[in-house]
Amino acid sequence: MRAVDIIIKKRDGGELTKEEIEYFIKGYTQGEVQDYQASAWAMAVLLKGMTPRETVDLTMAMAYSGEILDLSGVVAFSVDKHSTGGVGDKTTLVVEPIVAACGLPVGKMSGHGLGFSGGTLDKMESIPGYRTNLTTSEFIKQLKEIGLVLTGQTVDLAPADGKLYALRDVTGTVQSIPLIASSVMSKKIAAGAQAIVLDVKVGVGAFMEKPEEARSLAELMVDIAHLAGRKAVALLSDMNQPLGYAVGNALELKEAIYTLRCESNVPADFREHCLVVAGHMLALAGRVKDEESGHAVAMAVLENGRAWDRFRSLVIAQGGDVKCIEKPELLPQAGIIETVPAPVSGYIKGVDARIVGETVVSLGGGRARKGDPIDYAVGVVVHHKVGDKVEAGHPLFTIHSNDKDRLAEARLAILEAYRWSAKPVARLPLFYGVIKG
Ligand code: URA
Repeated sequence: MRAVDIIIKKRDGGELTKEEIEYFIKGYTQGEVQDYQASAWAMAVLLKGMTPRETVDLTMAMAYSGEILDLSGVVAFSVDKHSTGGVGDKTTLVVEPIVAACGLPVGKMSGHGLGFSGGTLDKMESIPGYRTNLTTSEFIKQLKEIGLVLTGQTVDLAPADGKLYALRDVTGTVQSIPLIASSVMSKKIAAGAQAIVLDVKVGVGAFMEKPEEARSLAELMVDIAHLAGRKAVALLSDMNQPLGYAVGNALELKEAIYTLRCESNVPADFREHCLVVAGHMLALAGRVKDEESGHAVAMAVLENGRAWDRFRSLVIAQGGDVKCIEKPELLPQAGIIETVPAPVSGYIKGVDARIVGETVVSLGGGRARKGDPIDYAVGVVVHHKVGDKVEAGHPLFTIHSNDKDRLAEARLAILEAYRWSAKPVARLPLFYGVIKG
């Protein structure tokens, strides 16, 4: 077999066999298939698609590119969650500690930023010292000791996804149902959780803009989980406007910290989103009778401070400087901070999440090339949500930048992201549906 023939077959719309997929993924993991070949192949998959059978084979080939953790002897039951990527999506940072505080172990393997969507690992890496490259034995030890792990792919766990994910980020090959499904599910299968809640984003700030595409992705991922013997549920959630207020790594981390500490002025949409996701995780794991009871239990541990304690333990366990989360002003701060006033009075009809995400990438918060360093401090904080009434001249958004030219470009771009109405506008729903398979 030759990698080039597999690329040509997919380019011409052919259906790859299980053996061809395994050959290609194994070759790429071991460095025999080159980055430029994997880029061409990923683009062919994006353009020509894959059948459900090919996607399942791809997922399994990526999951088995490293070890598959068997957590049955480590913890009684472990649960995980994964988002398909959004703007301002710092849900994991709040949900994981909530669920762990309810006594349910969570071992999670996350990713870096992908295209215009932020990455959980980049947010956590804005804490000096925080390690996102735990080895398998460190993963297991920490899950056993504190019931909470938040790390990235390693050379041992789903290494094929680690390589392909970084490549897709910079080659325009993110927006593909088979590539997203296999990337998400290979990590979930490798990390060993018995139950998985999938947060599938829909809207202009998601990789799936149309509800029917998001539903197909959700159904496919739930089916893959079931084939791999895991319990799964998928939530379809809104990504037309940023989730919460903050977009940008350290800014989002701060918003998650304020939410965990139940401080005033935390965004209600983000807090509620986290409680719903946590409620589903508790219900799927059988800890509560249904997601509504799970929501109530989740709220209790958020409000009594136990979720915040768990987050502190996570940061300490993974080597992060705990002072920086206790005093978030010690986290990376941008040199120039400018608040932009509303140009008109009216109701906010839209805040285009994709424009906001792309602007944060161009401020330096995302990568243009594989392995590029990123600026943790930069980002945008919106001050209102769709449906809010704003007076002209009142604060609309704040830009955090380390470069004044980029700041000027960002100001213009974000002003363009807003749509206004003279009449009242309905708020956007948080969720559009649940897929149980
Ligand atoms: N999250 C992932 O892990 N992979 C994707 O492709 C998209 C979101």
